[in-house]
Amino acid sequence: MKQLLIAAVCLIWLSCQSRLKPDTAINQLAENYVRLGLQIGAYDPAFVDAYYGPDSLKPKYPTAAVLPKDSLLHAANLQQQEIDSLLKTGLADSSQQRLHWISAQLTAFHRRIRMIAGEKSSFDEESKDLFGVTAPVFPESHYQTLVQQLNQLLPGKGLLSERFQQLSNHFIIPKEKLDTVFKAAIAECRKRTRSHYTLPGKEDFRMEFVTGKPWNGYNWYKGQYQSLIQINTDLPVLIDRAIDVGSHESYPGHHVYNMLLEQNLYRGKGWVEISLYPLFSPQSLIAEGSANYGIELAFPGEEKVKFSKEVLLPLAGLDTTGIEAYYEAVSLRAQLNYARNEAARGLLNGTMSETEAIRWLVDYALFTPGSAAKSLDFIRQYRSYVINYNFGMDLVRHYVETPGSTQADHWKKFGQLLSNPVRSSDLLPAEKGR
Ligand SMILES: [Zn+2]
Repeated sequence: MKQLLIAAVCLIWLSCQSRLKPDTAINQLAENYVRLGLQIGAYDPAFVDAYYGPDSLKPKYPTAAVLPKDSLLHAANLQQQEIDSLLKTGLADSSQQRLHWISAQLTAFHRRIRMIAGEKSSFDEESKDLFGVTAPVFPESHYQTLVQQLNQLLPGKGLLSERFQQLSNHFIIPKEKLDTVFKAAIAECRKRTRSHYTLPGKEDFRMEFVTGKPWNGYNWYKGQYQSLIQINTDLPVLIDRAIDVGSHESYPGHHVYNMLLEQNLYRGKGWVEISLYPLFSPQSLIAEGSANYGIELAFPGEEKVKFSKEVLLPLAGLDTTGIEAYYEAVSLRAQLNYARNEAARGLLNGTMSETEAIRWLVDYALFTPGSAAKSLDFIRQYRSYVINYNFGMDLVRHYVETPGSTQADHWKKFGQLLSNPVRSSDLLPAEKGR
């Protein structure tokens, strides 16, 4: 009798669902997606990076002592099945795009639930599920070639990483000047971004210097167009970090990305799924990739050198000698950033010891022993997330820049990327134009 009753209730529910207008059904699905994400977040403090949606979607019951893995996986499965059914009903393009985006996010939910439960997978399997892509593998010889180029650029004897440090030491911002220098850099990035985009009138940010974190900088988006930007001062802070933080964490990076999504999709279209930003999801590939690409968009060519020379270094009370060589070395080092993927891949796959991973970071990514140890902390906590910074940036650049496109075109395409539910797979060359 009880089973019959349950079956009858299910039938009524299903027939109600099938009678719902597509928009209503998608909105309900989106609410359930947010509920599920917030529920996962109750078991994984790093999972929910930002949430500014309704309180009514937050978990109603206290967290269970043990992760309800099967129930959470089942809920994610049901939502993906519902998406597949809805996609067969001939929806408008924007609705299809919305559903494909939620589905890709749910694939990440799946993987993260299993990870919280302690399941292991390979580095590539993990990044494919969490971030929607697999980063390319480069052989050691690739890094050796780049290192050779740097070798010629940096004078003196001794280890390359040490010579790079000697050059860098000239551009460490004195602690008492950090606030002034960072504020000036962020103000410039904001000005440059505003000359291309109309940002929400009440947008703002707060900046804090912190210690004891595995990352260098962080944007905590609070909703209502407000961010808290934290800068870690555990290690000496170099002059280029001011521009990086001003662009990557702020304008046109994370702060702008979050604001444009909130403004255009959450408030503009009422898409509640946007109010949740799950850190371990394809959204992070777009977030980190666009934030890193945004630095060169805001400061193309020699602009970083020029702005550092004319404004930031004088503000920091530092001499400008050698700044050109420093930025050239920084730019070459950026190409070596993929070496961190290899260190993370090796560590997580169990094919590299900690000592070997540190060797890769020092020899090929030019970390100091201190910053390499910090990077290992980051890898242990964020794992395959590291690919979002380099491969994510390359994918965004490839997506934004097309043959013959101008700087104005780049800002326009970049703005579209930051304002729409774009998936990682939309950035892949083979998928482009789908
Ligand atoms: Zn970031």
